[in-house]
Amino acid sequence: MRQARRVPLVAGNWKMHTTYEEALRLAGVFRERLDGVDGVECALIPPFPWIVPVAERLSGSTLVLGAQNCATIDEGALTGEVSARMLAPFCRYVIVGHSERRHQLGESDEMVAAKLQAALRNGLAPILCVGELLEERDQGIAEATVERQLLHALRNVQADQVRRLVIAYEPVWAIGTGRPATPEDAQAMARFIRQWVEARFGAALADAVRVQYGGSVNARNAEAFLRLPDVDGALVGGASLDVEQFSQIVRLAGEVGRSEHGVTAVDSR
Ligand code: PEP
Repeated sequence: MRQARRVPLVAGNWKMHTTYEEALRLAGVFRERLDGVDGVECALIPPFPWIVPVAERLSGSTLVLGAQNCATIDEGALTGEVSARMLAPFCRYVIVGHSERRHQLGESDEMVAAKLQAALRNGLAPILCVGELLEERDQGIAEATVERQLLHALRNVQADQVRRLVIAYEPVWAIGTGRPATPEDAQAMARFIRQWVEARFGAALADAVRVQYGGSVNARNAEAFLRLPDVDGALVGGASLDVEQFSQIVRLAGEVGRSEHGVTAVDSR
């Protein structure tokens, strides 16, 4: 199932962390360490207020920017929201359906679908997060949960938009807990996701779509996930704020990308 030109994506989700000064310092250090690393695409995903200054810091480098969320609509009376149209000049990616938004802020499958459409219509690549709660895994309905999330989110997605999509498998119980999924479970779900995409959109698009793993990825455990045949990089939360760890994860992904996929940074751009 490994496609030669599926470039791994390592994305650092800073969540609601960093001051303005910390954000600029992190962006500068990551630029120094990671600009031009081949075989991987590296995205920084800071909080909204730091997107423009971080974009300026990264300008001209190979590092790209993402946003953590976007509104369901492009413009209007929606106090406090930020639209994909507003993000598009600065970001390549936008996370939609992160479990913290689904479970702590009540974001429904329908809202996630609308946000995904907003991202696509504004030229952003959505990183669609899917994943089951611990009780859903314990009840044996992990795949059914992920399938429901995929079905809703991708209901109105056209085949020609699938190539831009990234799907992040993030078991909710693994996020921020220091207790990652086993590589076997991550591979099994990534494979399940790819097969679902194949059934709906065909083999070529299933081969092209990138499926990340996320949930307590750090520099020690990253390689096991990055080498899985159906996993194309990682969505990293906590460790993305640690310069040593995140740099190491990106470099490892680059090594995997170069050795297993034969890709260079240029292929993803
Ligand atoms: C995340 O926020 O998407 C995430 C995976 O967090 P962490 O790496 O801290 O588990």
